[in-house]
Amino acid sequence: MIIVGSTNADVGIQHGIDILKNGGSAMDAVEATIRLVEDNPDDHTVGHNSYPNILGDLQLDASIMDGATLETGAIAAMQGFREAISIARRVKDTLPHVLLAGEGAERFAAEMGFEKQADMLTDEIREAREELLKADMPPEVFADLSSSAELHQWVTLASDPEKTRGTVNVLAQDHEGNLCTGVSTSGWAWKYPGRVGDSPIIGAGNYADNRYGAAGCTGMGEMAIRGATAHSVVFYLKSGASVAQAGIRAMQDLDDLGGRYLSGMNIVALDSGGTPGGFSSIKDRTFIYQTDEMSTHEETMRTFVEINQRWG
Ligand code: ASP
Repeated sequence: MIIVGSTNADVGIQHGIDILKNGGSAMDAVEATIRLVEDNPDDHTVGHNSYPNILGDLQLDASIMDGATLETGAIAAMQGFREAISIARRVKDTLPHVLLAGEGAERFAAEMGFEKQADMLTDEIREAREELLKADMPPEVFADLSSSAELHQWVTLASDPEKTRGTVNVLAQDHEGNLCTGVSTSGWAWKYPGRVGDSPIIGAGNYADNRYGAAGCTGMGEMAIRGATAHSVVFYLKSGASVAQAGIRAMQDLDDLGGRYLSGMNIVALDSGGTPGGFSSIKDRTFIYQTDEMSTHEETMRTFVEINQRWG
């Protein structure tokens, strides 16, 4: 039994491994681990107290995938609810659909009994938004952003990839050998309203298949969507590659992307035998894992794979 995660999953991984040790499923462990990250007030890129889109609306993306059945549930651009990963799981458990976006996701969350929040923005985030956006745009533009007809220009400036990114990935394998992957994020800070990243897109930011392995991505979601990166890792595992080879190949595929906007990518992976791996196009990035035999998690360097970066 093992849980693998992006390093910001450290607030929940012990709880997750305890669930596995007590006979719980990979799905339960992934959901519970991610819920703790979503509620972590110090993480401004996942769940509550996170950076909103350019208009100041917090829009959450999340997905969960069951490696036993390949069933998935996901929500995208959802406002007003904190429990993104649990709502994604309810999509999987309740509906014949796999992905709900925007108002539909919010309506569904309310139907499922999740509590609508009056205000998802905290003062800390409101102040950070003002300070960071005003560094990129004149105060009069900031004051009237909601009626701007040129929001697209400001998004390109304010979404500088080096400034504010983050997502949580959690992969687990339970006592029955079942794999599950969960991904949750507030997406890029200052993204265009309605922008959806890779986190709720199955095959892009999330994939799990008991037969071969599982993978989750953080970083520039547009690249993981274009490269079908999480699925690529699992596909390379299926083709006989080791975890180390599969992660490097999926990263190298991203090096072939063209276009004007390319930045960082990070992958965590787990094969069906329980071997973890981490990969990043940014030096000195880490990931974490904990098995049922370990009393605490291990933080390990990701394999660095250089890929093209350009912006604008
Ligand atoms: N992958 C996320 C997104 O594109 C952001 C991140 O991981 O930094 O929405």
